[in-house]
Amino acid sequence: MRVLIICDMEGISGITVWEQVTGGGALYEEGRRLYTADVNAVVRGCKRAGAEHITVIDWHGAGGCYSFKSLIPERLERGARYVLGATYMRYTEPLEQGCDAVLFVGFHSMAGTPDGILSHTVSAEQWVGALLNGQPAGEIALMAAFCGEWNAPVVFVSGDEAACREAKALLGEGLHTVAVKKGIGRFSAVHLPPDDAHALLEETACTALTSGVKVQPFRPSPVSLEVQFHTPDAVQAYVGKPGVELKDPRTVVAHGNTFWEMWDRFWKR
Ligand SMILES: [Zn+2]
Repeated sequence: MRVLIICDMEGISGITVWEQVTGGGALYEEGRRLYTADVNAVVRGCKRAGAEHITVIDWHGAGGCYSFKSLIPERLERGARYVLGATYMRYTEPLEQGCDAVLFVGFHSMAGTPDGILSHTVSAEQWVGALLNGQPAGEIALMAAFCGEWNAPVVFVSGDEAACREAKALLGEGLHTVAVKKGIGRFSAVHLPPDDAHALLEETACTALTSGVKVQPFRPSPVSLEVQFHTPDAVQAYVGKPGVELKDPRTVVAHGNTFWEMWDRFWKR
């Protein structure tokens, strides 16, 4: 069994504020320890389930030289391979090689979710929000469609309760989820202690891989992605791109027959 673990930081147990997930922030080193420990627990669950080939991708944009490198190398669980520093939603090798199941660890809810801890979509500073084929979409939907392009089903999602709710609404009740915290607002939460969260993450990851996959790969087709930005200057990077239209001064819409065709036109390289 070949599995891929895609990691983000905002939905990790014990994480509540930007200062824990922003490179150089006052609480960033604490955030990195919490992040690495949650991910390690999921890796242990995959090993227990008998996965022979486990790849982990760090896709948290912590800013500057910290982006996609927040996992602490010397603390990583043995028995997996860790991808650090790969450009966001561009590294496809583990999917191309064939992937039986994908696990999302530490994910957060889409922009505008009131009880979503650190809720945002792709860029809290630049994006107001996104619609995928007319439906409100966050990073869970975008990343699931990215994996679906290579027929890989997402079988497990961890994050706060809002992220788990969003993931099940998209992928169905067959999805295994672990809510490690419940948002009171965007910057406050009721947390499980990390040790309890780790036990639950390990157990549920193992169950998700051994109980039979009940989730279909998410493969919308054709695909449109509408992104509204906070300010009109942000759309300038998309002007003149084939397959991408300007809907209004702050909104672009990208089209493709498949998610990857659309994403390839839309997303920076
Ligand atoms: Zn993130």
